[in-house]
Amino acid sequence: MNFHSMSVEELRTTRSDLQKRYDELCAAGLDLNLTRGKPGPDQLDLSNEMLSLPGEDFRSPSGTDCRNYGGVTGLPELREIFGELLGTGADRTLALGNASLEVMNDVTVFAMLHGTADSDRAWSAEPIKFLCPVPGYDRHFGITELYGIEMINVPMNPDGPDVEACAALVANDPSIKGMWLVPTYSNPTGYTVSEDVARKLLAMPAADDFRIYWDNAYAVHTLVERAPEPIPVLDIAEEVGNPNRVYVFGSTSKITFAGAGVAFFASSQANLDWYIKHISAATIGPDKLNQLRHLQFLRDADGVRAHMDRHRALIEPKFKLVLEILEERFADSKIASWTEPDGGYFISLDVIEGAAARTIELAEKAGISLTAAGSAFPYKKDPHDRNIRLAPTFPPIDELRTAMDGVATCALLGATEVLLGDE
Ligand code: PLP
Repeated sequence: MNFHSMSVEELRTTRSDLQKRYDELCAAGLDLNLTRGKPGPDQLDLSNEMLSLPGEDFRSPSGTDCRNYGGVTGLPELREIFGELLGTGADRTLALGNASLEVMNDVTVFAMLHGTADSDRAWSAEPIKFLCPVPGYDRHFGITELYGIEMINVPMNPDGPDVEACAALVANDPSIKGMWLVPTYSNPTGYTVSEDVARKLLAMPAADDFRIYWDNAYAVHTLVERAPEPIPVLDIAEEVGNPNRVYVFGSTSKITFAGAGVAFFASSQANLDWYIKHISAATIGPDKLNQLRHLQFLRDADGVRAHMDRHRALIEPKFKLVLEILEERFADSKIASWTEPDGGYFISLDVIEGAAARTIELAEKAGISLTAAGSAFPYKKDPHDRNIRLAPTFPPIDELRTAMDGVATCALLGATEVLLGDE
């Protein structure tokens, strides 16, 4: 029954039924974890062949001895593959170290200290701000918070950030220097930015040194037949007269080995020159042996797509299960809504206003760890206290079933408490 149309008496009875179910849950002594979007061990096994690569074959197809120093832009053959998959082209795509997050951090620090390719004025010369589509990725917000960059929430819609809100903000405020964005199967909603929204974001009037951090971490991580074609953001940026506006990031973290993959950075030539100038002080070049083993293992863009099909076979049943449980436990009560992603690593669950932190607390006490309340928002402040990020990939499916069913009990109990105000 719909909780919102229950009488106080009905709500009290429902609360006490749920309390009994919750007590049983606590008595089960669970120790389950739904916090981080990590690949499961079975997904990692898919890439085990890489553990014995490159073997004696340490030269790249173009003859580079990958054991030696050099080649700050990365192996051309790998740039070719990911230039295709990210829609950025090999020439404008660099193959780098093991973490795209590090590149996002680096470009922020370089701009804070030295300004950008468009302005020598350091971002740190005055207070600056970033737009943050919410809910979003906690580690993005962690970077901007660390450097004292003020974060402004903008709503994330199914076709991308609320572009009118973004345009109105940046038009009147040149201290807004950047914007976080996960364009494909966004973390945590699973939403994908439409080309129309992308075009408007790239064209809107803004400061010369305004940058969109286009973090295409889930470009090929589809749960359906085929991932969407990448939006050619670098071409569009050029076409609309803002060639340096976008920084594109990607990585193989959730394709091969998380933490031992290859990161990619793509942008205009001016931005790449700027990045290479600064990064060349820090490194003589990336780990080319790791890049070579990726090349030998993945072979080409179709090789990556085929590999992602194998991931999909393992994780699609987990997403399906979570969505079934959400439907089964919440459909009648109307106390929750959730996204149904076609890809990525998360499902974003909204419970009734004021019940998310309580749900997470109840789950924690029952031995089910969920991402901390507010994590998907700047400063960890969910303005409505309603969002919970679910990460179905890591636990084995039986544990996932138990954990999700438990989370549903906690959310329902939390909702009765909120609706009863809690007496
Ligand atoms: N970007 C997004 C949106 C993510 O969700 C994640 C990991 O969860 C990362 C980046 C991390 O990428 P990397 O391992 O390349 O640093």
